[in-house]
Amino acid sequence: MRVIIVGAGLSGLMAAQSLTNDRHDVTVFDKGRGVGGRLATRRIGDATLDHGAQFFTVRSEEFASHVNKWLEASVVHEWCRGFDSEDGHPRYAGSKGMSGITKHLAQGLDVRTNALVFSLERTANGYNVITDDGVAHACDKVLLTAPIPQSFSLMFGGAVEMPDEMRTIDYDRTLGLLAVLDSDTHNVRSPGGMQNPDEVFSFIGDNSAKGISATHALTFHANPEWSRAHFDLELDEIHSLLLTAARPWLGKAQILESQPKKWRFATPRTTWPEPFWIDASGTLALAGDAFAGPKMEGAALSGLAAARALTN
Ligand SMILES: Cc1cc2nc3c(=O)[nH]c(=O)nc-3n(C[C@H](O)[C@H](O)[C@H](O)COP(=O)(O)OP(=O)(O)OC[C@H]3O[C@@H](n4cnc5c(N)ncnc54)[C@H](O)[C@@H]3O)c2cc1C
Repeated sequence: MRVIIVGAGLSGLMAAQSLTNDRHDVTVFDKGRGVGGRLATRRIGDATLDHGAQFFTVRSEEFASHVNKWLEASVVHEWCRGFDSEDGHPRYAGSKGMSGITKHLAQGLDVRTNALVFSLERTANGYNVITDDGVAHACDKVLLTAPIPQSFSLMFGGAVEMPDEMRTIDYDRTLGLLAVLDSDTHNVRSPGGMQNPDEVFSFIGDNSAKGISATHALTFHANPEWSRAHFDLELDEIHSLLLTAARPWLGKAQILESQPKKWRFATPRTTWPEPFWIDASGTLALAGDAFAGPKMEGAALSGLAAARALTN
């Protein structure tokens, strides 16, 4: 069976691995320069900063079985067991940044980056997936793992009827600031993560304390309310407001370099009641964190569940 997956984020790559292990012929397309989607890691000089997901937790046995393999391969490590106080539950991080998890998953798979999929056509035998170079890629089945509004836009030609209720799923936005510092004399306490520390930020992460950055570097994520209120301002203005809001957390440290970051589809505000959606013919599925839970574990489990459904 030939399967095309749109999206090389966590859900798409978990599905691709599972289908490839079952000896299906799988190609993954992603519009990004690299794999990872919202598992995003950026280098600024000698600093390494996660600018999407910051850490993850594990609740299910199924996800734990994958995370244990990543631990053995040193792809992830335990960062801490709680930020403000210890609660006994491990918080994991990618050992080379979060995007390292998806780079690991992509090994040995046919993944094409810089490849925007812009439409999907039904054919007599399956689908044509059309990429932005105009090429039509034929396949038997398709899995879409982009945030739901982006997957909807691929359906615009009417290839598949998706449930109208799915249109109501919206995503919180996140405005972020990446800051490379000259020292560790900032005010982010051990173990290097602070959740909801003030009225602007939902998380501040110390990438050096997390173990991924050779130099001092903080990631600031504004909370959904602040991000929504400021999202449409000019990027320079957002940058300046974030720098002002970050000031109390910098202590005596000076910023050497900083960058703002906008996530339009950061985390789903509501989720679909099933871990994936599949059309009546069983040939087109949707997966991602809007299905099995609005975090990394949900994205992974959704990709795996959709892969199983496509092989039935
Ligand atoms: C700022 C931020 C902080 C977060 N913090 C945490 C956290 O601390 N812990 C946690 O567990 N989760 C966190 N999350 C959520 C977590 O990152 C996501 O749940 C997870 O990464 C989603 O994976 P996914 O595969 O479903 O989607 P994505 O990672 O979004 O992957 C979808 C992929 O589809 C690609 N794509 C879209 N449209 C097209 C197209 N037309 N053609 C080709 N490719 C396309 C995109 O480029 C993308 O790579 C955070 C997210 C953000 C943004």
